[in-house]
Amino acid sequence: MSRRETKTDVILIGAGIMSATLGTLLKELDPDLKITVFEKLASAGEESSNEWNNAGTGHAALCELNYTVEKPDGSVDISKAVEINEQFQVSLQFWSHLVNNQVLHNPQDFIRPLPHMSLVLGGKNVAFLQKRFEAMVSNPLFKGMEFSKDPEKLKEWIPLIMQDRELKEPIAATKIDSGTDVNFGALTRLLFADLLKKGVEINYKHSVNDLKRTKDGLWEAKVQNLNSGTMETHAAKFVFIGGGGGSLHLLQKSGIPEGKHMGGFPVSGIFLVCKNQEIIEKHHAKVYGKAKVGAPPMSVPHLDTRFIDNQKSLLFGPFAGFSPKFLKTGSMFDLITSVKPDNLLTMLAAGAKNMSLTSYLIQQLMLSKEKRIEELREFIPNAKAEDWDLVVAGQRVQVIKDTEAGGKGTLQFGTEVVSAADGSIAALLGASPGASTAVHVMLKVIQKCFTEKMPEWQPKLKEMIPSYGLSLKENPQLLHDVHTLTAETLRLSEKSPIHH
Ligand SMILES: Cc1cc2nc3c(=O)[nH]c(=O)nc-3n(C[C@H](O)[C@H](O)[C@H](O)COP(=O)(O)OP(=O)(O)OC[C@H]3O[C@@H](n4cnc5c(N)ncnc54)[C@H](O)[C@@H]3O)c2cc1C
Repeated sequence: MSRRETKTDVILIGAGIMSATLGTLLKELDPDLKITVFEKLASAGEESSNEWNNAGTGHAALCELNYTVEKPDGSVDISKAVEINEQFQVSLQFWSHLVNNQVLHNPQDFIRPLPHMSLVLGGKNVAFLQKRFEAMVSNPLFKGMEFSKDPEKLKEWIPLIMQDRELKEPIAATKIDSGTDVNFGALTRLLFADLLKKGVEINYKHSVNDLKRTKDGLWEAKVQNLNSGTMETHAAKFVFIGGGGGSLHLLQKSGIPEGKHMGGFPVSGIFLVCKNQEIIEKHHAKVYGKAKVGAPPMSVPHLDTRFIDNQKSLLFGPFAGFSPKFLKTGSMFDLITSVKPDNLLTMLAAGAKNMSLTSYLIQQLMLSKEKRIEELREFIPNAKAEDWDLVVAGQRVQVIKDTEAGGKGTLQFGTEVVSAADGSIAALLGASPGASTAVHVMLKVIQKCFTEKMPEWQPKLKEMIPSYGLSLKENPQLLHDVHTLTAETLRLSEKSPIHH
């Protein structure tokens, strides 16, 4: 059998939301680009982007308390929340563009309006939430946010959480109706279906095992066809490593200096999924709490209404845990094989710095179902184990790198685009805020790697994303226009009632 060898403009490794977004952006900007995708699983959106593997929160910093910090003087810094909200507005605008241009047909297949709430207990936390609310509500990005300490009001907002609750300490919540639930799995599949129609070659069951630079400046991917077992060689001018947890290993294989001294810290996830329809119908929000002392930001379980397979469901989690795998379908050797001579010291420093976090995550992994139900009872006081099933979520690989502020081996909680100086290859590492900011992050890849095309692509970018290159917080009229446009196109102003 002859070896399959091809040459193309762009190779996308991995069929998750990041490759789907980058492929779609590039095809909108240049319909003639030849794009080839390699995905080792049998279909698109099966790893972290799958709806059962992530929490489906359209992260706009409306309810996640870790994006707003209390400063030593007692005031609340909302700058990170503003940044994330602006990034989510970019996603909303691009998705609206795709709906208006019939790339995506029915927005409800992947996005639904859903109130985002923060809920806290105890005098100190209530005081923090009130200060946070006051700092946010005057900002046009967070317009419409409400705050209440009144148990009667909270009964209206979150009947399931307030039912049978003994109020031994102060309680408060914020609520904002412009929140969303996003089915990133459905979105990924829809985008790949469209890419296929536009002539993109998508190869499932194809694992990229190696990457190397050729003498003529192309990148050559060694790809194993998992159906036949044969090896193939595919070359491209530009490669995007969108392998999710698998990206770090591929970045290391590329050998680019920008990928050195970096490591990955895997965090696993588990959800409790409600199987009692009566309980599911009593709740209609995403309700985030405050992280416990010593717990990392991604380990704050939340009680979320979700829309999966067009059905309303109720999930609590994700509970964070420790597993050495970098992908849900990965190997127990992923962590150890990611340690290389160049990142050994970084990894050792990270290990020493994060002993307590690691032991916390190991303890979390070992929790019995009953212990998890006890945590759920902080949200639903009368929760019963028989109404809930445990489901394993996706793996998140947080970036470890040496930073000026944190020193050697510092754990990062954001996403990082790592690209070669000449823009011929880029990888995405990290998992938060994750899929919600895919459009912003993939635009960063385009800006870094298609520099010479930017002047030509600028008008199209402005057409697709009216706020492109502008700050919404500094342009209230534009923000208003963008909100109106996206809410209408994506049908985000429709309300669905709670059945008490
Ligand atoms: C528990 C959990 C909760 C989360 N909650 C949220 C949330 O509420 N909101 C949010 O916005 N984000 C959330 N995220 C983050 C979000 O899911 C991710 O940021 C996003 O899905 C990553 O997309 P991706 O395309 O980079 O990776 P993935 O979706 O993981 O896709 C990567 C693909 O690459 C393939 N691949 C890997 N290696 C290779 C190889 N060598 N060859 C070929 N193919 C390869 C994999 O099989 C996979 O299909 C959450 C994540 C987790 C795990």
